This record gives sequence, structure tokens and C-alpha cells, in this order.
Amino acid sequence: MALFLHYLSLGYLLHGIALTLAVTAYGLAGGLGAGVVLAAMQLSGQKWLAALARGYTVVFRGTPLILQMVFVYDALPHFGIRWSAVASAGVALAANEAPFIAEILRSGILGVDRGQLLAGRALGMPGGVLMRHVVAPQAIRTMIPAFGNEAVSALKNSSLASFISVQELTLRSTQLASSTFDFFSVFFASGLLYLFLTGSVSLLQLGAERVLDLDRQPAGPVRGLARCLRVVAWWRRARDPVPPAPASGATTAEDASRPGGAVIDRQQRAQRLASAPVALELRGLSKSYGERRIFSELDLRVHSGEVVALLGPSGSGKSTLLRCLNRLEVWDSGTVFIGGHRMGMSPGGVVLGSSAVARQRVELGVGMVFQHFNLFAHVSARENIAGPLRWVLGWSAREADARAQELLDRVGLADRAEALPRHLSGGQQQRVAIARAIAPRPRVLLLDEPTSALDPEMVGEVLEVIRRLASEEGLTMLISTHQLRFAEEVADRVVFLAQGRIVEEGPAHTVLHAPSHALTSRFIRVMAAGQLSGAPA
Ligand code: ADP
Ligand code: MG
Repeated sequence: MALFLHYLSLGYLLHGIALTLAVTAYGLAGGLGAGVVLAAMQLSGQKWLAALARGYTVVFRGTPLILQMVFVYDALPHFGIRWSAVASAGVALAANEAPFIAEILRSGILGVDRGQLLAGRALGMPGGVLMRHVVAPQAIRTMIPAFGNEAVSALKNSSLASFISVQELTLRSTQLASSTFDFFSVFFASGLLYLFLTGSVSLLQLGAERVLDLDRQPAGPVRGLARCLRVVAWWRRARDPVPPAPASGATTAEDASRPGGAVIDRQQRAQRLASAPVALELRGLSKSYGERRIFSELDLRVHSGEVVALLGPSGSGKSTLLRCLNRLEVWDSGTVFIGGHRMGMSPGGVVLGSSAVARQRVELGVGMVFQHFNLFAHVSARENIAGPLRWVLGWSAREADARAQELLDRVGLADRAEALPRHLSGGQQQRVAIARAIAPRPRVLLLDEPTSALDPEMVGEVLEVIRRLASEEGLTMLISTHQLRFAEEVADRVVFLAQGRIVEEGPAHTVLHAPSHALTSRFIRVMAAGQLSGAPA
């Protein structure tokens, strides 16, 4: 026993540990650097880069590490490349680790919900900003267990460096055992030392997982502070209450069409809008996916402050059209003008790259709300709103937080500011998403079926928020929806998209109650069951 303890603390073995750690550290750090490059090559979308990365992976994953170490140590000097044994072992280990780490990185990045990327792009985030603030924080969380595994495996693989005479722990243990003939005690001590090292890696991994666990309760003082902030928010809300949202999806279509004041208001509003500048215009817009034509030669003008409901059967291209309007989707031919500027084009008519388009979305002021909310899953409701203001517009944290709080107040969620999206109901998530979209004060807001993914009892609260935006903010809005009563109440105009063209458009009440085209009529009849009173027979 005394001998065993003696080996455990023997300087000769401990120095071996230092070399083991050095080779492992070189291997992991180099492997991470090369892995990032390999992953980027594969994700670049460039076929030849991806093929090169795959070729590398096949070679380095398919040959034994020991051969790679011998190659680096013994063969490279013939080509004038000469490293110490430790450096050679580190380089070979890095080259071997790189494809494994690249796959971990790739799976982490690809695992981030595509909808969040779309939302980030719609908010004007260029690729780098999106990667830093949305993809990386979420990918890193999911990659930590795999990284822990890889670190343990690199630590054990470093023992192969003994074949190129690196005096690491395994080689020193073998030498010690050969000279003392005390094989059992020496290798037992060596095994324990390895266990200590790999155990430390596991502890580090657990610690990192704990620190990055989004559901972890914050420490005492932080919890106290959060409670204080909640009390202050509650007090502010009590002092300045937000009008309650209706309990159901029922809207007051009757109010809008009621004879008298509302109708006159509508006529006055229509006249006012007709003379307002054009906020959004499509000219001859056509889009196909492969051979499949989604829509052709669409023309549409939306005036500043106008609310347009986009109706159409499922699959008619409403979402595709909305994505084209802010250039989340490229189209085949035609032009989209936002505020008189050609979307996706420079003033000189040159097609813009993705970063320039991101900037253009912000400059022209086009916001978007998605059917599935697409909130950034790793940050609170407040940060979903404040984050993009800082990352894209360069607002200070104070300004951004104040704007986020103001908007959360307006959508009735001031007391849920610190909640993660997954701790909010669907209706609450969509209200946060709307607040996020209007935070940079866009001129045009595109809403893609904002209530279709909600349980029926939550539809009303979201429609109420949109209704208030339309009446109080004077925002130009294009809303794809199946809520006919809502469309009738809120929209100035209804546009019906079917079979790849705008079949019919006109004042909401007219199109919904007296459609002139058979396709519109059939669609409204089917959709209106239980929604509209007096729908066409
Ligand atoms: P809507 O929103 O009106 O239901 P979409 O715009 O989502 O319709 O889709 C219109 C058509 O385009 C559908 O047939 C759909 O399958 C197809 N589509 C949508 N997105 C893609 C895509 N990325 N690739 C290929 N086809 C697509
Ligand atoms: Mg759709």
C-alpha cells in the first residue's frame, strides 16, 4: 500500500501527467481550430469546399491515430518539417480530432431551429450577428456533452504518443514497471491517475452544463433582485393598467359594418389612404420552386397606414409571398418596392448580398411576425425584444431594455419579462414576437398567419394586440390570415390569392360578403362556417 501511494505521488509519473496534458491540450485546441474550419467548409454551401472537407474526414477518421503520429514524427522530417515528439503527437492528435469535432459543431449548429434563423434574418441580423447571438449560444449548450466525451477520448488517445517516445504517463508507467517489476502497483497507480484526469474532465463538463442550464434557479441574491424587479413591474402595471384582452376569438365585425358612424369612418379612412404614399408595391412578381410555379406576375400596391388581409387556400403561396416581400426568399422575376426602394437591389440595380439585404430590411423598416412565433429560445421575453435592438441597431442596453419593457407592457406581458419562451403560452409567445417585430419601429409589418398555430382560446389575445396596432399605430400591415371576422374588422382591403394569382381584391366588407369570383366565394363559404354572419351562399 505504501508503495502504491508512493507511486501515486512520484515526481517521475507526475511529470508524465504534465506531458499527457500537454499532448491532449495541443490535440484539443488544434482539433477545435481545424474542426471549426472543416465545419465551416461543409456548411458553406460551396460544393468543392464541402467535398474537400469530406475527403479530409474520410482519410483522418479512417486511419489509426498511431499511424498518423508516426507519420508526423518520422515521415514529415523527410519533407523538411521537423517538430519535437510532444509537438508531433499534439499535431497528429489535432488532425485526428478535427473531423470528430467538426461533426459535433455541425450537429450543434444544424440543431438550432431554422425558424429562429429566419426571424433573426427578418430582424436584419447579418450572418455573423446571427451566429454569435442566436446560433452559438444554443449550439454550445447542446454540444457540451459531446465535447466532454471527445476530451476524455483525446486524453486516453494521448497515450499513443508513447510510440513516438513522448515521455507521457503511459510510457513512464511502463518504464517504471519494467525497472521495478512491480507491475500491479505501478499500473494501478497509473490507472488511478488517468481516472483522476478523466474524472476532472467529467466534472468540468457537469459544471459547464450546470452554468449553461437555462432552467437553473439563479443564486440567492440574483433571485431576490429578480423578485424586486417583478414587484416594481407589477406596481407599474397596477398604476397604469393595460386594457384586458377579450377572452375568446370573437371579434366585433358588426361594429365595423354597422350603419352610421363606423361606415362613414371607413369611407373617410379609405379616401385618406388612397392619397397616402405607397408603402409597398409588387410589380410582376413571379416565384417558382424548381419546376413548380407558386405565383406569376403579381401586382399589388399597399398605401402607407393601410391594413391588407391576404387570404387564400392553404398552399396558395401566402407565406412564400410574404417571405419574398422582405427578401427572405428570392423570386424569379418582378420587383418589390418598399417605400419606393427596390428590395434586394442597390439604387444602381445591383443584386445585394445577404449582409446588405439585412441592412436594407432595417433601413427600409420591414418587420415580420411568423406563424410559429420563432422566438429565440435561449433568452427571456425581454431579451428577445431588447437583444436585436442592441445587436442590429446598436442601441444601449438601457434604451433597449426600456423599449422592451414598454412594449411588453403594451402587449400585457410586463410581469413575464424574464420568462423564457418555453415557459410562455402560445398566445403569450406570439405577443412577444409581435412586440419584437415592432420594437425597431418598422414602417411595414408582415404577419404570416399569426394565430394559426394557437389554441382557440389564445387567438383572441393575439388578434386584440394586432387590432390595437392597426388602430393606434397607423402601421402598414399585410396579414395572411384565416380569421375572416378579424379580417373584416381590421383590414381596409382583402386580397385573395389562389392558383398563383390575385384572383380578387377590394374593400374587406365587399370581398367577404359579396365576392365576385367563384374561387373567392367557395373559399369564404368553407372558411366562414361559424366565423362570418351573412357569408355568401
Ligand atoms: P400558404 O402559406 O399559402 O399555405 P406556402 O407559401 O407555404 O403556402 O406554400 C406554397 C407552395 O409552395 C406549397 O405548395 C408549398 O409546398 C411550396 N413550398 C413552400 N416552401 C417551399 C420550399 N422551400 N421549397 C419547395 N416548395 C415550397
Ligand atoms: Mg402559410
